[in-house]
Amino acid sequence: MKIAILPGDGIGTEIVAEAVRVLEVLDLSFETESALVGGAAYEAHGHPLPEATLKLAQSADAVLFGAVGDWKFDTLERSLRPEQAILGLRKNLQLFANFRPAICHPQLTHASSLKPELVAGLDILIVRELTGDIYFGQPRGRRLSPDGAFEGQQEAFDTMRYSRPEIERIAHVAFQAARKRSKRVTSVDKANVLETFQFWRDVMIEVHAEYPDVELDHMYVDNAAMQLVKAPKKFDVVVTGNMFGDILSDEAAMLTGSIGMLPSASLNAANRGLYEPSHGSAPDIAGKNIANPLATILSLAMMLRFSLNQPEAAVRVETAVTRVLESGLRTADIWSEGTQRVGTREMGSAVVAAVKAA
Ligand code: NAD
Repeated sequence: MKIAILPGDGIGTEIVAEAVRVLEVLDLSFETESALVGGAAYEAHGHPLPEATLKLAQSADAVLFGAVGDWKFDTLERSLRPEQAILGLRKNLQLFANFRPAICHPQLTHASSLKPELVAGLDILIVRELTGDIYFGQPRGRRLSPDGAFEGQQEAFDTMRYSRPEIERIAHVAFQAARKRSKRVTSVDKANVLETFQFWRDVMIEVHAEYPDVELDHMYVDNAAMQLVKAPKKFDVVVTGNMFGDILSDEAAMLTGSIGMLPSASLNAANRGLYEPSHGSAPDIAGKNIANPLATILSLAMMLRFSLNQPEAAVRVETAVTRVLESGLRTADIWSEGTQRVGTREMGSAVVAAVKAA
């Protein structure tokens, strides 16, 4: 089996390096190959997703991705910006289902912005549809001027669109995931205002008929945003569209203390996937050895479970992370009085040691 390693930009290179060290001590026989992506690829090859990088990702069983982006690329035309690499990979690998678990580790309840009793034991799975919705709908209003400015332009627009097969396949993924958990799905929409999301709700109900053992309820996105901070433990599996999922999964991330703790998986119909932390390239802290590598290391665990069929190795990695947190080591984003502050590299070394010890 082959794993493509795409560290990307900013802290991407630092955190992926730690996840690769963890992979190496697992002693599994995987081939790995690295390539440039995002701004780094643009600077070296003139494109954020060069042909060779895409080919590598297509030939691999799984992709371990860091993060892309830097403000210095903000003036580039949209198609050349680092973030386009992610959209290109999702599209080409047909990654339609994004899994974002939001788990509040007992040792980190105080790091949440909510009261500890509201988040202790929190374990939500957000399933976000990735290929449809307003991010990809056509037609799109274009900037008329060649330099990309909106000067003098009177409108801009994006089209929200979902097809029946797109909703059906994400519905199946969510109901099947719920069967392995507490058998409850909340579908988040805006059916009261948007035709697209009334359609979404109708199709969810149709697919649900095949899963009588799973409970389904519906919630408008504004209410879901409120309930996530009011009583987050009410949720189990949340399924939603691309844009609402983008926003709600970041909100859920903060409930757990730090976005630096949250892994994610984007899967296609064949369970091949791209695994990455939920956060971005954090240019504000890049190169300082202070980024939290645990989201990336936990993404590696998801990769072992979902795409590489190594559930025991996944548990070894997750248990090692728990042990390290229990031992009191913290990167700056999750540090609190009475715990020991460590850097990216030291946190990676601690997980490596805990995996070896397990
Ligand atoms: P970000 O997630 O990079 O950072 C937000 C905040 O969280 C920053 O203060 C950052 O220091 C902190 N943070 C993020 N990851 C951390 C970690 N592992 N440890 C400790 N602190 C961490 O979001 P942003 O600042 O809005 O965006 C920065 C760049 O990343 C932009 O170019 C954006 O487009 C890009 N981005 C990329 C992805 C991706 O590659 N999937 C996702 C989101 C944003």
